[in-house]
Amino acid sequence: MNLSAHDSDILRPSLENLLSKIDPVVASILDKALDGKAISVDDCVELFETKGIDLNALIIVADELRRTTVGDVVTYVINRNINFTNICINRCGFCAFSRSYGDKDSYFLPIEEVVRMAKEAWELGATEVCIQAGLPPNMDGNTYIDICKAVKKEVPDIHIHAFSPEEVVYGALRLGTTMEDYLKMLKEVGVGSLPGTAAEILDDEIREMISPNRIRTKDWIRVIKAAHRLGIPTTSTIMYGHIENSLHKAKHIAIIRNIQKETHGITEFVPLSFVHSETPIYKKGLVKKIRRGATGAEVVKMYAVSRLMLNDDIKNIQVSWVKEGKKFAQFCLNVGANDFGGTLINESISRAAGAIHGQLLHPEEFRNMIRDIGRIPAQRSTTYDILRIYD
Ligand code: SF4
Repeated sequence: MNLSAHDSDILRPSLENLLSKIDPVVASILDKALDGKAISVDDCVELFETKGIDLNALIIVADELRRTTVGDVVTYVINRNINFTNICINRCGFCAFSRSYGDKDSYFLPIEEVVRMAKEAWELGATEVCIQAGLPPNMDGNTYIDICKAVKKEVPDIHIHAFSPEEVVYGALRLGTTMEDYLKMLKEVGVGSLPGTAAEILDDEIREMISPNRIRTKDWIRVIKAAHRLGIPTTSTIMYGHIENSLHKAKHIAIIRNIQKETHGITEFVPLSFVHSETPIYKKGLVKKIRRGATGAEVVKMYAVSRLMLNDDIKNIQVSWVKEGKKFAQFCLNVGANDFGGTLINESISRAAGAIHGQLLHPEEFRNMIRDIGRIPAQRSTTYDILRIYD
């Protein structure tokens, strides 16, 4: 183990004692992680299978790595989600948000409304708007460009975190240009970062089953790397708890890690557990053995294993209070995560899928929950500049 002198005095005997009592294979992986050595895909699978005291040891080691890597500050961003249309040609099986053109509850917000929402968010203290939506048929390829221009004209200093790799590919297709040129255009009109959504599980067999019309794994990687080459940072995500197994999850995290080693353009990793209840794939039984989301233990393991796998490359692991609820998200800050995500005024996509958690978490509530676990709240920008520490 490679702990600082002070930490080592306090923790080393108890950690060594703990590791001596657990499964020796798990103990050797945890020891490797504490020594700052890379965890392999096979190691990752082993950790995803832990139970009992082995799982408890994994949690303690993940939290220790979090503490030594990023300290006790827990960050959050004040932001607003703007899902400007739910009309989508893809109709992914896990998505309860999308509608077909002409459906009575379909909508397409005019640009003026998107701008009004961005302005309102800015006036309420938001530093970011996260703009993502469905893929409307026959969409004008300039739609994303025009939205950004209009938002930036009215609210020049707000950070536009917008357009998933899927939307980037679609926008380029609709405009008849290359994906790279489309990204350049987005950057010129003010896109500051891309959400690394549309990743789900980066395995084409799984994608074929849960979202056959989605971009393929290689396309997702291509867009993310192209964005990084152009100086556009991205987040990274995984959606799990449906039909994938531990190996799929391990390989997915390894793909994210490899991208980061090459480009250094990923700001954070955001595990998103599958919210099943209203999704077509679950309600209509479209895929055999579809699960009802991840269990609590699986969610905990995802955060802990992510910390062990990504600690050297992506230091920010974000909990999702929208998926997990604020109390469980607060707990998961003790298992390797260090970021509480966004206040998310108007989150529509998870709610449509059946998530029962609210549309807005007030910054003060974030701060109280962070202090409640003995940590230090800090408001951050989208790209993790600390804007204010509340110590
Ligand atoms: S996840 Fe996105 S692309 Fe898939 S159906 Fe929903 S809105 Fe459309």
